[in-house]
Amino acid sequence: MEVYYDSLPFFIDILNKLKEKENIDYEIRFFYDYQKDYLVKKSLIKVIENYNILKNTLDPKSGEIRLRFPCPKCGLTEKHLWKTQITGLTDDAINMSSYCPIHGEYSIRIAKDSNDKFDMNVPLRYLVKILYLLELNKTNNMLNVIVDGGDWSGMWPLRVYMEPLLKLGYTDVPSIIYTPTILDWSGSKLSKRMYVGNQAYREYYKEGLPFGVRKMQNSEEIPLKWKQSLWTIFTNLC
Ligand SMILES: [Zn+2]
Repeated sequence: MEVYYDSLPFFIDILNKLKEKENIDYEIRFFYDYQKDYLVKKSLIKVIENYNILKNTLDPKSGEIRLRFPCPKCGLTEKHLWKTQITGLTDDAINMSSYCPIHGEYSIRIAKDSNDKFDMNVPLRYLVKILYLLELNKTNNMLNVIVDGGDWSGMWPLRVYMEPLLKLGYTDVPSIIYTPTILDWSGSKLSKRMYVGNQAYREYYKEGLPFGVRKMQNSEEIPLKWKQSLWTIFTNLC
């Protein structure tokens, strides 16, 4: 959480600059606020109702839909669902139980009017977000657009949301724009985890190149370049 709050001012800085230039307002909504939304929980319930149809698509290896929730006393959350189970499911609620090695058994009721925190792994989170936005479009006559990094394009979305949407009988598709993937010297995606954790890009410093994640977050040059040459949105910038 500390890293997150540490980085937030840089995102706010670039959003403010873009707002100034384009006169388009923005609002930041945090993940746990999003989770409280009635339509998010409705979308999650829809996925869990279709557990057997979707489990092997969302997790071909283990056939699990990884919905989990933290111990209310220490925050420990099972990554794999060894002791986490769904104990009840209705049209408007999911009941679950889990086990903390220190504090014992605990449970949760994820209902349309509840505010307890829960956690979804990446494929589940993405599918729920897509279902939520499609529902929001329909309910409020809106067009929501997702902006994702280009590394999320290709086969991955076809498996993670197109296949489930077709299995659930949807014919609508979400609107998604993929932004360029910034590459490192080897041609791989520039990895923040590698950069922060393993000092993987220390050779850039040795050569004196002005290269760093923080600097990029604080730069307005990249979106301006997109504006000048629209095609660069769909290509790598490196
Ligand atoms: Zn605990």
